[in-house]
Amino acid sequence: MALPRGQARGWVKAAKLAQRRRPAEDTGGPQSPAPGSQRAALYVHWPYCEKRCSYCNFNKYIPRGVDEAALRRCLVTEAQTLLRLSGVRRVESVFFGGGTPSLASPQTVAAVLEAVAQAAHLPADSEVTLEANPTSASGSRLAAFGAAGVNRLSIGLQSLDDTELQLLGRTHSASDALQTLAEAQRLFPGRVSVDLMLGLPAQQVGPWLRQLQDLLRCCDDHVSLYQLSLERGTALFTQVQKGALPAPDPELAAEMYQEGRAVLREAGFRQYEVSNFARNGALSTHNWTYWQCGQYLGVGPGAHGRFIPQGAGGHTREARIQTLEPDNWMKEVTLFGHGTRRRIPLSELELLEEVLVMGLRTDVGITHQHWQQFEPQLTLWDLFGASKEVKGLQEQGLLLLDHRGLRCSWEGLAVLDSLLLSLLSRLQEAWQQKTPSSVPRG
Ligand code: SF4
Repeated sequence: MALPRGQARGWVKAAKLAQRRRPAEDTGGPQSPAPGSQRAALYVHWPYCEKRCSYCNFNKYIPRGVDEAALRRCLVTEAQTLLRLSGVRRVESVFFGGGTPSLASPQTVAAVLEAVAQAAHLPADSEVTLEANPTSASGSRLAAFGAAGVNRLSIGLQSLDDTELQLLGRTHSASDALQTLAEAQRLFPGRVSVDLMLGLPAQQVGPWLRQLQDLLRCCDDHVSLYQLSLERGTALFTQVQKGALPAPDPELAAEMYQEGRAVLREAGFRQYEVSNFARNGALSTHNWTYWQCGQYLGVGPGAHGRFIPQGAGGHTREARIQTLEPDNWMKEVTLFGHGTRRRIPLSELELLEEVLVMGLRTDVGITHQHWQQFEPQLTLWDLFGASKEVKGLQEQGLLLLDHRGLRCSWEGLAVLDSLLLSLLSRLQEAWQQKTPSSVPRG
């Protein structure tokens, strides 16, 4: 569907004028869409990549004769449909992920943003992020994405070592990555994030830390550290299975993570989430919505969303998953206006489990106020105040429960998964004990 050009230019122009970072509190985060509000974040999935990286099991395809105009129409249609079905009136942030969305044309990005700005309120200073791979992100392309409304870049740099990049099957070299990073910072100052991987086969702590130090000399205000996860069905998994490569050593990876986060802290970065570090308030608004269990819409093949559909009683949040394969997804969008393959209503307990698991990933954790938005009857004190296990975790200095809420300490954040086991079972136990007579539902 063609969209009126005047309005599109209007939004992009306003967005350009408003290109300033929304300041985040030193110890807090950006505001997230409240659980049942008419506000949401929007994720857009671009499903294609130039080639398959050796470790990747994401939903991505190698393009063969992609009809981008048709794909664009479907992305626009699905965004409009999901905005209507969710009753969302205000979109707080947009994230183009993939796949490799920097392979899409800037026109496609602009068309989706235009459609969103027409169907809902998209504030001019909304965070609009695009994931970019160095080989598909020349300076002129990045500038064109900026002109289309993108104001933040997340660069899949992964490593600054050419041998490691080859092992990962990346299409770029370390020098390509550094060049893209420099261009990105020139065009989007203060709004460029880089991903760095750790825990690769044969990777050693010292050389990896030197990569991180090198990166810190030239990076912007946001860094994400990801541990390689060896996924069945990937080329890397097969190589390790056959003995052609050593298996990644989890102890070395843990050491890299611990040393890496200390180096980042020393460099003035706040670890605001398990894998994410920011300085000068450059937290990702979009991802903050996920960790705070705000509503989000997922558009595109295989995209995930979480929202309360209108007309279904108006209070049950659903997990929605779009059809994975792009051609099938396009057929469904053409026929039905959206390609939702699965709708999974979330029970109250499941939602609370998500609030706990996602919230504790952040340094702010779960404030009493935040928890109350999801569960007004059982407070965090009711749930965890008398638990011996929680007391034990507090005594070990891993967890804090106080007037602010429940959160991990610096040490606790590094071992979050082990803490969650106790916390989730305590929540489930308390939920089973909660009866309609003892705790009246609103
Ligand atoms: S570019 Fe990203 S999505 Fe594409 S194959 Fe590589 S890791 Fe996977």
